[in-house]
Amino acid sequence: MDKFDRSRSCAVSMDQKDPLAKYRDQFIFPKTESGTPYIYLCGNSLGLQPKQTKDYISEVLDQWANKGVKGHFNGEKPWLDFNDRLNPMMADIVGALPEEVVIANTLTVNLHLMMVSFYRPQGKRIKILMESDAFPSDRYAIASYLSHINVDPEEAIVTVAPRAGEVLLHTSDIVGRIEELGDELALVLIGNTNYYTGQKMDLGHITEAGHRVGALVGFDCAHGAGNIPLDLHDNNVDFAIWCTYKYLNTSPGNLGGIYIHQKHANDPHVPRLKGWWGEDKVRRFQMRDDFVPQLSAEGWQISNPPVIALAAIESSLKIHHEAGMSAIRAKSISLTGYLEYLIDELQHRQVTVITPRDPDQRGAQLSLLIENGSKEIYDRLISSGVIPDWREPDVIRVSPAPLYNSYEDVYKFVQILDVTLSSCVG
Ligand SMILES: *Cc1c(COP(=O)(O)O)cnc(C)c1O
Repeated sequence: MDKFDRSRSCAVSMDQKDPLAKYRDQFIFPKTESGTPYIYLCGNSLGLQPKQTKDYISEVLDQWANKGVKGHFNGEKPWLDFNDRLNPMMADIVGALPEEVVIANTLTVNLHLMMVSFYRPQGKRIKILMESDAFPSDRYAIASYLSHINVDPEEAIVTVAPRAGEVLLHTSDIVGRIEELGDELALVLIGNTNYYTGQKMDLGHITEAGHRVGALVGFDCAHGAGNIPLDLHDNNVDFAIWCTYKYLNTSPGNLGGIYIHQKHANDPHVPRLKGWWGEDKVRRFQMRDDFVPQLSAEGWQISNPPVIALAAIESSLKIHHEAGMSAIRAKSISLTGYLEYLIDELQHRQVTVITPRDPDQRGAQLSLLIENGSKEIYDRLISSGVIPDWREPDVIRVSPAPLYNSYEDVYKFVQILDVTLSSCVG
């Protein structure tokens, strides 16, 4: 563990020793009205823009201007195989084989697509296990999909909740619920990192438990991708979905990622919703009547992808790939540990860190429960030059992103938090 102290010089010296420090300058920080860059701690909601992204997008616009339709096949980066170059980089970030990952559609749409392929009710095996406070979009998607195929969501969705008086889940409770449901369980779908508490779940044990009772297991990795190493393949996860605009900095609402384990990705009989871009690449332009899927996660693509959006993804994946997930994670553990240390040192009785204290059970985010807090605190933080994230009724989520946040950002934030709390909640 790093040894921290409360002095500013501690932050400065940590920054000097930081092997990822040079990446900060590759991102654009939003500015206050007076022109000073914000202390941006909201990368769990929307990551910052890499400076080079504009050039990557311009390149595609130029190719479109200069070559028109020929841009699909010609030029330095033909659009036709644009994501063939990106999928392996993305696979690396989530710990998957290159053929197991595709960048396509958006997260919630991909969740619907994964339900088509991997929710396979049979006899009494109809249940889906989720966490009780799953992200609303995931709940809407699953409930509406079930209704659409005439399965009663009330009957099929089973949730696992924190114990009375607690906010975090116990892996043993999830595993226990899986075992109880046994041959009634069709699918486990859990957020790998909870958006609210920042708790990271144990992918390996949950997947193993699901498989033991004959269920399939998928994860929503919206808050995991680019934040923590996921090892999806080694954990034997059946499928996963994530967005790329949070820790992956690809731009607001950009395309999402899909992981499908090799054993399913290479199986042409897995049911799916189809489109021409999921066809075997050799046949894609043969315009035949029958559909033969591409044997890889690319077999789940439906449409030809928006290349301008892919250009922004390429820009940020290159940065992530160069920095490497293990270096990103190492800094993240230290940086978030430093944030935790400084908050603990404040000794404000009103602040409780609800995120797990064990670095192995969290990513970059700390969720701070503010007793008697109100949105006024958030508004004051913003006007003091900090951008955190507020969740009703009383939680501030703070997420130092290892690629662009410095130890000094964290130091300054905690100073501002101290003043704000003293003036707002006494
Ligand atoms: C951010 C997030 C989403 C967002 O879904 P989109 O389809 O990209 O709008 C969904 N689920 C979780 C858990 C998230 O954190």
